[in-house]
Amino acid sequence: MSVFVLDKRGRPLMPCSEKRARLLLARGRARVHRVVPFVLRLVDRSVASSAVQPLRIKLDPGSKATGIALVRDMDVIDTATGEIQRGAAVLNLFELVHRGRQISEALTARRAMRRRRRGNLRHRAPRFLNRTRAAGWLPPSLVHRADTTMSWVRRLMRWAPVTALSSELVRFELQALDNPDIEGIEYQQGTLAGYEVREYLLEKWGRQCAYGNESGVPLQIEHIHAKARGGTNRISNLTLACGKCNQAKGALPLEVFLAKEPKRLARILTQAKRPLKDAAAVNATRWALSNALKATGLPVELASGGRTKFNRTTLGVPKTHALDAVCVGELARVAGWQKPTVQVKCTGRGSYQRTRLDRYGFPRGHLTREKRVYGFQTGDLIRAEVPKGKKAGTHVGRVAVRATGSFNIQSAAEVVQGIAHRHCRLVQRSDGYGYSRIASQKGVAGVGTASLSALSLPGLKAEVSRAA
Ligand SMILES: [Zn+2]
Repeated sequence: MSVFVLDKRGRPLMPCSEKRARLLLARGRARVHRVVPFVLRLVDRSVASSAVQPLRIKLDPGSKATGIALVRDMDVIDTATGEIQRGAAVLNLFELVHRGRQISEALTARRAMRRRRRGNLRHRAPRFLNRTRAAGWLPPSLVHRADTTMSWVRRLMRWAPVTALSSELVRFELQALDNPDIEGIEYQQGTLAGYEVREYLLEKWGRQCAYGNESGVPLQIEHIHAKARGGTNRISNLTLACGKCNQAKGALPLEVFLAKEPKRLARILTQAKRPLKDAAAVNATRWALSNALKATGLPVELASGGRTKFNRTTLGVPKTHALDAVCVGELARVAGWQKPTVQVKCTGRGSYQRTRLDRYGFPRGHLTREKRVYGFQTGDLIRAEVPKGKKAGTHVGRVAVRATGSFNIQSAAEVVQGIAHRHCRLVQRSDGYGYSRIASQKGVAGVGTASLSALSLPGLKAEVSRAA
């Protein structure tokens, strides 16, 4: 992955390679500005004296995790038409793991506790139907998704000279569906429009044959009102059928073909007219996010999920959150996607409530008033070198402090309990996120998770060499 570089006044320069970062540090030309993600600050150069290329942040917003990719835009010339298309050289990959669920559960628990506490008031006038919500209100768990994503977009804009943004907004591009170009071999070989049509139909008809309910077999696009009888390519005239049913129906009118199955006939006719709800309804979080992206003032490209999948399939890129982000929007070629991903987990900054409760809502224990213990705080990224004993070795990860000075260290793979504070050294202060690394993808293989070892992140390596 590439390393972020700032000039001596903290303004972003083009990111550099890990090797160059090591050389800059060894020659004393740079200082470590931040460890994870690794950011360098040059001591001798300002932004005016260096060339900057167009960088783009690409986002694939999801409910559990959002993929974020920082890419350099490349011009790709189509040899057949001479048309200039956009390609991407991948610089950094991130996977932002949200905590919407924890937020929602915490609020539900709070509500239940308050209700129990306040529910036994006797002579109080009923208060209800007197609450309103502002226009555009979103539940806190969803606001958190948009907010943390924007917070990372702004961070990347601080560390790299970003000139454009891309995000996935809708599942399907409706204008591509309006007049689908699915003549002959085009939709079998997959132009973008044909691809959107197929994905849309699969979703709309539940991935099964409309005439015989067979699933898990190759499905063909079928004209309800046969083309031979003047049927159109409009999306409302298309359905999916297995090869056998398609052949059986041939050019027969649907009413004749399904004469013995009036229920199925009625269902197909109503289903055909009904647009897929999801196609138009962009979920509220994505709208909130796209508005926030536009507010940055950078040009924003909003693309469909169908196009992401089309790009991913045609370019042979495996499916992960971060690589999906790379494939969002216009993309003719992709280079250097075989990079590890930094997983950024939203952890929050601890609890405001100092009393821990059992599951009945009775006090079970108390957190300390003071958050910091022996100079460490829960959430700090630390490095512990334990010289001997059962836990001997080096542990790097997110710390959870105890007042006793015996800490727990959470790495990507495991939790090591009972590490004494005197073995610990601070790598980076808590910023509300936990960091780990997902190994790079090879072809279309499974996701391998590596622990945050001393060698896995360039930042930590620099920390080690500085200490040595
Ligand atoms: Zn069938």
